Amino acid sequence: MKVDILEVRDILGIRKYWKGVDSLEIEEAYELVENSLSPNRLQHTLSVVKWALELSKKHGVEEKKAHLAALLHDLKKEVDKNKQLEYAKKWGIIKFKEDLENPHILHGPLAAYWLEYYKGYKDKEVLRAIAHHTLGAPGMGILEMLIYSADLTEETRNYPQVDKLRQSLYDNLEQGTLACMEHTIAYLKKTKRPIHPQTRLAYEDLKRRTQFAK
Ligand code: GDP
Ligand code: FE
Ligand code: FE
Repeated sequence: MKVDILEVRDILGIRKYWKGVDSLEIEEAYELVENSLSPNRLQHTLSVVKWALELSKKHGVEEKKAHLAALLHDLKKEVDKNKQLEYAKKWGIIKFKEDLENPHILHGPLAAYWLEYYKGYKDKEVLRAIAHHTLGAPGMGILEMLIYSADLTEETRNYPQVDKLRQSLYDNLEQGTLACMEHTIAYLKKTKRPIHPQTRLAYEDLKRRTQFAK
């Protein structure tokens, strides 16, 4: 397909994107991940797709969006960490000082930015789900919850509580996501790793909101 290249200027310099491409088709997304990920990471990604599709059917989430977000969530995971940091600074993605200390949490925002500004992908819901799959975020929507949780509980994950989390997600996506966040925070504490401020904000927000749901 022929596309026009449009230059967009912002405070950080010139960003290029392809005007007119507003739907990244599933086939193109498969091509992208196959060319970017090692066999093991690809296996994880395909397991996230499978589980995300199952959950999206159960909870009435648009399947194509779940499919794309699941496929692309770890697209930038295997880029060299120093490069991830370099691009995150260049693209204005760093939001907390903790981001600089934990570059392994940057691959989601980097993938979302790249898809938006270099591939011209415009679906904000899918982009947010990709960007927030590692830490979550305050105000998470249903697709964001689904990708965050499917990533943590796909079939190749095998920690002791995983079956309970899967069942909880199947029964109720909001409560299940809250349980996944609680699990992550407990795991980080146990392994004496810092809890990222965005993780805390995401958890507190979801906890407050779920109190009011029936
Ligand atoms: P993956 O990309 O499929 O391996 O999974 P994720 O994107 O969810 O996670 C990447 C890494 O970030 C994992 O090692 C998580 O344990 C870690 N992680 C998730 N939340 C936090 C957090 O709040 N703080 C820190 N330091 N690490 C986190
Ligand atoms: Fe990830
Ligand atoms: Fe993942």
